[in-house]
Amino acid sequence: MLKKTEEFLINNYNVNEEAFKLYKQAIKDTEEIFIEYDEIREYNQLKVLKAFQDEKISESHFTNTTGYGIDDLGRDALDRVYARIFKTEAGLVRPHFVSGTHAIGAAIMGNVRPGDKILCVSGMPYDTLLGVLGLTNKKNIGSLDEYGIQTDVIALDEQGKFKFDEIKNTLKNDKAIKLIHIQRSTGYASRKSFLIEELEKVIKYIREVREDVIIFVDNCYGEFIESIEPTEVGADLMAGSLMKNIGGGIAPGGGYIVGKKEYVEQASYRLTVPGIGGEYGATYGLMRSLYQGLFSAPHVSIEAVKTAIFCARVMELAGFKGFPASTDKRTDIIQAIEFGDPKRLIQFCNGIQAGSPIDAFAVCEPWAMPGYDSEIIMAAGAFISGSTIELSADGPIREPYIAYIQGGLNFDHGKIGVLLGLSKVLDIK
Ligand SMILES: *Cc1c(COP(=O)(O)O)cnc(C)c1O
Repeated sequence: MLKKTEEFLINNYNVNEEAFKLYKQAIKDTEEIFIEYDEIREYNQLKVLKAFQDEKISESHFTNTTGYGIDDLGRDALDRVYARIFKTEAGLVRPHFVSGTHAIGAAIMGNVRPGDKILCVSGMPYDTLLGVLGLTNKKNIGSLDEYGIQTDVIALDEQGKFKFDEIKNTLKNDKAIKLIHIQRSTGYASRKSFLIEELEKVIKYIREVREDVIIFVDNCYGEFIESIEPTEVGADLMAGSLMKNIGGGIAPGGGYIVGKKEYVEQASYRLTVPGIGGEYGATYGLMRSLYQGLFSAPHVSIEAVKTAIFCARVMELAGFKGFPASTDKRTDIIQAIEFGDPKRLIQFCNGIQAGSPIDAFAVCEPWAMPGYDSEIIMAAGAFISGSTIELSADGPIREPYIAYIQGGLNFDHGKIGVLLGLSKVLDIK
């Protein structure tokens, strides 16, 4: 580290002395781990570059349509660029998806009919999808459940792995199952995320039992962390958020769906309405940022992974348990750290906040967020509201007091945020 950098940090920020020592150690410890991710980044950058070139993307694709948005050149070409990157027949990339949940919801809702069943094989889906499927204890107005589409959930085993036998038996015995839901990333569950090789295994297994089911993967937080994506190992349909990896921190919002043409089309009728699908939808001048975000995404996603690995390491050195561990192979950008006490969790989040480019002066406090049963603390000082490809940390105020840390548009900033987080924790004593 440049002496100047060190002095600047010490002189301008409240850096705890012990935290700073661990920080410098963690930088050394993680250097070698990063090499592998740099290679993945380079490969994915090439993949994205080639897709742009093959689609002959030009300035004329930075469209600024209004009204119905029929024949929006830029929008339609971006669908094809995504399809090339994910090796699928079709793509549907839209700023009109209000979030990842919306894109995932449209993908699922478009491809089931009354009487069909959905089977979740990676345990309970992410919190916000429970309302879509009708899995919460409350009445879920408008959910698939209300339309006579039932969802069954097969929990993971104690090691957080797929229960292959139970999946097979359920699929064999229940011919109403039309769609399989698999979630790559952990969400707020305490299991590991699924590596592509694990997804491949379960997808192939399902295929052997049943040819006819649609295999859907929730790819949130997973894009560009490995050199291939779930659609390259047999997933039929996949969706995610542009406020995470693939928006590259530049897309102002939106979501995407990629997969087999027929399934993407069905999904498009739930983004708009049957008969219109993806053919309408003005993009109001947003196309350039969707393209630019995608172009940056391989780089930015790996910067975020480095921040996560660094965070795991420095917190390990400080005696905290994290998952994944710093040396574990990654398939998403999430890092969980267990604080074991509410004060430390809150302090850590406040350190992340203090290190943000936006709203660094704000103090984080736990609050009763709608839809959650305990109070939640959230640190986010982002250019795009709620964007989690930007450095952010959050966690429920309940045992064992875990913070979920993700994002970081660049590692130089990410590691400072983590340093300030740890500083505030060690300051408590
Ligand atoms: C973030 C996330 C979602 C939902 O995305 P939003 O943009 O927050 O709606 C769904 N599934 C997983 C695994 C996620 O991490």
